[in-house]
Amino acid sequence: MALASAKKQSTHGLSVKDVNLNQGFHVIAGPCSVESAEQIHTAAAHLAGLGVRILRGGAFKPRTSPHSFQGLAEEGLRLLAQAAAKHGMLTVSEVMDTETIGLVGDYVDILQVGARNMQNFSLLKRLARQPKPVLLKRGMAATIEEFLHAADYVLEGNQRVILCERGVRSFDNLTRNMLDLAGVVLLRRMSALPVIVDLSHSTGRPDIVPALARACVALGAEGIMVEVHPDPEHALCDGAQAMPLHDAARMIADLEPWIELRRRLEPESLVAAGNGALE
Ligand code: PEP
Ligand code: MN
Repeated sequence: MALASAKKQSTHGLSVKDVNLNQGFHVIAGPCSVESAEQIHTAAAHLAGLGVRILRGGAFKPRTSPHSFQGLAEEGLRLLAQAAAKHGMLTVSEVMDTETIGLVGDYVDILQVGARNMQNFSLLKRLARQPKPVLLKRGMAATIEEFLHAADYVLEGNQRVILCERGVRSFDNLTRNMLDLAGVVLLRRMSALPVIVDLSHSTGRPDIVPALARACVALGAEGIMVEVHPDPEHALCDGAQAMPLHDAARMIADLEPWIELRRRLEPESLVAAGNGALE
């Protein structure tokens, strides 16, 4: 199903079905937050050159402290859409509340529901009544069954749901959250929805992301999400987990033979699951 054509600066005419990176394994990448025109354009140009087809960037940020950078709001959405349009990419950005669904939907191709909102049932019900794909993140202490029930709220009216495992709270401080790869296997077994693995918010550290990306290919996930920043040290949000551009380039290049191996061993696994949200 083609996306409803987006207003303003969104990626006119491009549909999620045009996205077919690396024979079907999707890398969603970009900064945690859109910070400036220069930052998002630099990231987009570099990532597009690596074959990344979906650009991420937050404009409404769910920050733990009200004193932290909250995102550029509509200006951030506009910059994200402009940068993506320039390079023929699709966009994903978080929508935090029912009031801004229309605004975010005017600019982006895929609406993200963050971990903190996984059980915001009013938001989920309202997202069921709009046509754009919804990337639903697992809550930070949600069980797999709770996650799938949350997805059911959107599926009541909108079949284009993408599940995103992003780690759950744990006792170990070496990683930000605990990545649940068993959960990824269960999600794929228990539902027909595409499953994306957010390797940045789960680990909180870019050094172990390339190894986990290979695991995601082997597990049959539909893709990964990675925070990538042109200048992580000066990032306004989540700099510690941001992957620099050159590391992202190496990771994607190193991933290619693994994706190719999966394509040969399990050709059907690279046809994104179920509902066409990523096809
Ligand atoms: C994000 O993707 O920017 C984000 C805030 O992630 P999460 O909701 O998983 O914490
Ligand atoms: Mn982030």
